[in-house]
Amino acid sequence: MTQHYHYDALIIGSGAAGLSMALHLAQNARVAVLSKRELKSGSTWLAQGGIAAVLDTEDSTQAHIEDTMSAGGNLSHKDAVEFTVEHGKESIDWLIEQGVPFTQDSDDYHLTKEGGHSHRRIIHSADATGKALQQTLIEKAKASENIDLFEHHIAVDLITRKKLGLAHNRCVGAYILNDETGHVEVFQAPHVVLATGGASKAYLYTSNSDGATGDGIAMAWRAGCRVGNMEFNQFHPTCLYHPQAKSFLITEAVRGEGGKLLLPDGQPFMHNFDKRGELAPRDIVARAIDHEMKRLGSDCLFLDISHKSKEFIKSHFPTIYKRCKSLGIDITKEPIPVVPAAHYTCGGVVTDEKGRSDIPGLYAIGETSFTGLHGANRLASNSLLECLVYAKSASDDVVQSLTAPLDESIIPAWDESQVTNSDEDVIISHNWDEIRRFMWDYVGIVRTTKRLQRAKHRIDLLQQEISEYYSNYKISNDLLELRNLAVVADLIIRSAMLRQESRGLHYTLDFPEQGPEALDTILTPINFHWN
Ligand SMILES: Cc1cc2nc3c(=O)[nH]c(=O)nc-3n(C[C@H](O)[C@H](O)[C@H](O)COP(=O)(O)OP(=O)(O)OC[C@H]3O[C@@H](n4cnc5c(N)ncnc54)[C@H](O)[C@@H]3O)c2cc1C
Repeated sequence: MTQHYHYDALIIGSGAAGLSMALHLAQNARVAVLSKRELKSGSTWLAQGGIAAVLDTEDSTQAHIEDTMSAGGNLSHKDAVEFTVEHGKESIDWLIEQGVPFTQDSDDYHLTKEGGHSHRRIIHSADATGKALQQTLIEKAKASENIDLFEHHIAVDLITRKKLGLAHNRCVGAYILNDETGHVEVFQAPHVVLATGGASKAYLYTSNSDGATGDGIAMAWRAGCRVGNMEFNQFHPTCLYHPQAKSFLITEAVRGEGGKLLLPDGQPFMHNFDKRGELAPRDIVARAIDHEMKRLGSDCLFLDISHKSKEFIKSHFPTIYKRCKSLGIDITKEPIPVVPAAHYTCGGVVTDEKGRSDIPGLYAIGETSFTGLHGANRLASNSLLECLVYAKSASDDVVQSLTAPLDESIIPAWDESQVTNSDEDVIISHNWDEIRRFMWDYVGIVRTTKRLQRAKHRIDLLQQEISEYYSNYKISNDLLELRNLAVVADLIIRSAMLRQESRGLHYTLDFPEQGPEALDTILTPINFHWN
């Protein structure tokens, strides 16, 4: 018999966004929080730098707003930027109340400064802010009587009244694969929240964890929600290139301390691209590395800090030193192999200030959402802030409508009578690799119209194949992720084809200049209708 759960709110995702919202809501509502793997498995745990907020008397909200607008290539929505920045301090105060151990100096919290910020405004927990934040919120959520946490529960698809053939469309729950039993369960709730993180796993190299397959974006799209600005994927210039080193970033501070980028023959090259050399902004460095790798057909380039003393390297970069040493690379003596890596999804499910999507009862918060904050490029450390601010505003909105009667529609159990076990799992792994490879080669840091057309042709064929496979075989985590990855890859390609200019993170050789008007790319699904 199908397991059937009822909650006031179902939150899909246990990162900074999902857990914050659950804790706000738990004062008034019964909440389920799902994670497709362990609770700590998303990007939040990996965040190193910190959270941007105006906390210093020398700083001002106006300055933070201007820095964000300027990073966003004139595409950030002024109202979203103001809303986020103005709620920065109260979000940090709330985290401090929860017990997040931010680093302190003599008399206050220590603030760092990052690229693009005109003031010191990054509050942090040493160099592992996300871990400290998530650990604290997980403990709080575990202690709350109103929150039930479900690990290894993978959302398959949203359930809407429209899908059930009922009038007055609204999201009423989701089908969830319990990865431990292999059965699909029904989670029914009048408020469903997508807090599923980004989609950087669509690319061959990424700093994100394995689960960043854009599930929330794909589910919302299938359910009939608009999706915005998916062409803006931020790439980090230097991720460690090694078969056993998954998602390990080499911080920009290595270049800040004199690290040189080298071609495989040992020649420096950054001066050919920007007079600031290695200290040029992140997207310029990523583009230069990508250009040289493509020109030489090379798998990686190199970052060399070995001219500094061993003591300096070990004291400034202890984590990088240890990680590389464990893989047989002594960075005090030899250069580090690096590649750029997909790092952050600026676009996502179109939402308003309260995290509301196009479907009543369905919210999207955190990296899954498109609030308009980031525009064409994300300002460092604004993303965790966005998770916190919109978790609170969405929670306030849900609380206001909690008195609405629960939708009692009978949701049918998941039907697997027509499917069998697959004996061709190779299709999943092959298609997974193929998507990530051509997305890297054709839809990556430097684009052209021809490459995008090639990618579109391939994704159309793959989507057809995946859809047939999905209809015939029993679902698994890998199949669900592949299906979602194909949807987000398609959305990225279509958005990139529509943007016939270069702006922020979208750079195309066919339209190298910025266009006269700053416009969002909003894709509308065929099953969309205004409610
Ligand atoms: C290496 C790295 C460093 C970073 N450093 C910073 C930084 O210093 N400052 C900053 O502001 N930002 C930073 N970022 C970005 C920031 O960490 C993320 O944008 C943010 O943590 C996203 O939080 P989230 O809650 O939206 O999603 P995540 O933390 O990614 O959580 C997603 C959750 O959704 C769950 N999920 C996904 N799909 C499903 C499904 N189908 N069913 C059930 N559950 C599902 C996952 O299991 C997970 O629990 C960094 C990112 C990376 C990768």
